[in-house]
Amino acid sequence: MPATATAPKPKLGPPTVADQPMFIGGKWVESVSGKTFSTVNPATGETICRVAEGDSADIDLAVKAARKAYETGLWSKMNPSERGRLINKLADAIEANKNELASLETLDNGKPIGESVAADLPLTVQCYRYFAGWADKNHGHTIPIDGNYFCYTRHEPVGVVGQIIPWNFPMLMQAWKWAPALACGNTLVLKPAEQTPLTALRIAKLAQDIGFPDGVINVVPGYGPTAGAALASHMDVDKIAFTGETGTGKIVMTAAAQSNLKRVSLELGGKSPNVVFADADLDAAVEGAYFGLFFNQGQCCVAGSRVFVEESAYDEFVYKIAAKAKGRKIGDPFDIRTEQGPQVSEEQMHRVNGYIDAGKKDGARLVAGGDTTNHPRGYFVQPTVFADVQDEMTIAREEIFGPVMSILKFKNIEEVIERGNRTHFGLAAAVWTKDIQKALRLSNSLKAGTVWVNCYDVFDAAAPFGGFKMSGIGRELGSYALQMYTEVKTVIMAM
Ligand code: ADP
Repeated sequence: MPATATAPKPKLGPPTVADQPMFIGGKWVESVSGKTFSTVNPATGETICRVAEGDSADIDLAVKAARKAYETGLWSKMNPSERGRLINKLADAIEANKNELASLETLDNGKPIGESVAADLPLTVQCYRYFAGWADKNHGHTIPIDGNYFCYTRHEPVGVVGQIIPWNFPMLMQAWKWAPALACGNTLVLKPAEQTPLTALRIAKLAQDIGFPDGVINVVPGYGPTAGAALASHMDVDKIAFTGETGTGKIVMTAAAQSNLKRVSLELGGKSPNVVFADADLDAAVEGAYFGLFFNQGQCCVAGSRVFVEESAYDEFVYKIAAKAKGRKIGDPFDIRTEQGPQVSEEQMHRVNGYIDAGKKDGARLVAGGDTTNHPRGYFVQPTVFADVQDEMTIAREEIFGPVMSILKFKNIEEVIERGNRTHFGLAAAVWTKDIQKALRLSNSLKAGTVWVNCYDVFDAAAPFGGFKMSGIGRELGSYALQMYTEVKTVIMAM
């Protein structure tokens, strides 16, 4: 028997992390103000380390570095295949350091280590590899126009790109932003979420070590209203890509409009309908709805937070999902048996508990969880399920971003389409049925950027992702993402 077959699996524990500078122009530097902030382990409430706190002065330096790197052409005019090779090398480096990165993500965000290893890491690597392949394939067209002319388009990079990401999937959101931007030849300044800056900084170091030219990648940690706002309103940033709350997206878009009309792409909130018909494989639907809501402590913009169940299957569904939620194992995210870690921050814990209280007050029927007394240590929230939720209740309208499921009863297909679409959001939706007609009718009728049929939360770097309505502008991932990081130039030459 090979030695490895009996060797114990490496146990992943919380790593020790030194205080973190920021990364500007290929240098690791303190903030101009000298200020730092704490990043906290949400499972304990203890400080992990101090991080350099960027504000507008640091953003300005980072944008200057990115501009310089862009204009020298070191990256944008590098042979595209070479750019692709470097992005692939970054994927290799992430893979080679996967245990360290997964531990860092779990420490900073609180997500169970099993999920960091099995979901965040491989999806991150896949994203870099997918876009590495696009580096030498994002080409224009020749176009037959009237007259004696030669007309063609060039796909040029947008230039200096600002990117602001949230804390729910820090490493993966960084990959969704960096991989297409870099493949298209842009240089970038990233502002990670203040709650979770550690993996972004670590991956920037990996990129530096494998030879990304200075200034191509810059990371400025800091708060939204200071560092984030400075990036969104900077006059020398050509494009801003943002993922976060819808309200913040509006602020970012306003700042972009009021400064230099930089290009804007937004990936925002959701209140996704998950529709279960009585003819569905009910156990699969229960499993899918449970995963689609509780995954990542419910901190997913696509969370299936409005579960519509057809009348005749309703009682059985409620009974089964309540039993599952009651059995969910909450605790230390470094314990491999843990299914649910803490919410990312104390603020989020209180916010989610506030929604649980609102559900009770509005008269929804609590069938699992619902105890909002604070956990003695760490920012834990009970997995909670409300049945008999009505469309107008707060918990059915607002994005909770936590482990709180709302179940609503419906009678027929017309009704569920209308009620499913009765929201300003339009990020995702799902349908569970064995009837192909119903599956297609809902897929075509639900106003959502992604519709899952008999599955939930299936992501792939090749499949575009984004929102209808107030869930966003533009599509990340897939070939569509290239459009967000490309300027099209038309050249018309007299013959
Ligand atoms: P959440 O409330 O869940 O943290 P946000 O939308 O506020 O969601 O945060 C997502 C990202 O947006 C974070 O990196 C945050 O720092 C940043 N952010 C928050 N406010 C602003 C702002 N006014 N301008 C630019 N970025 C912001």
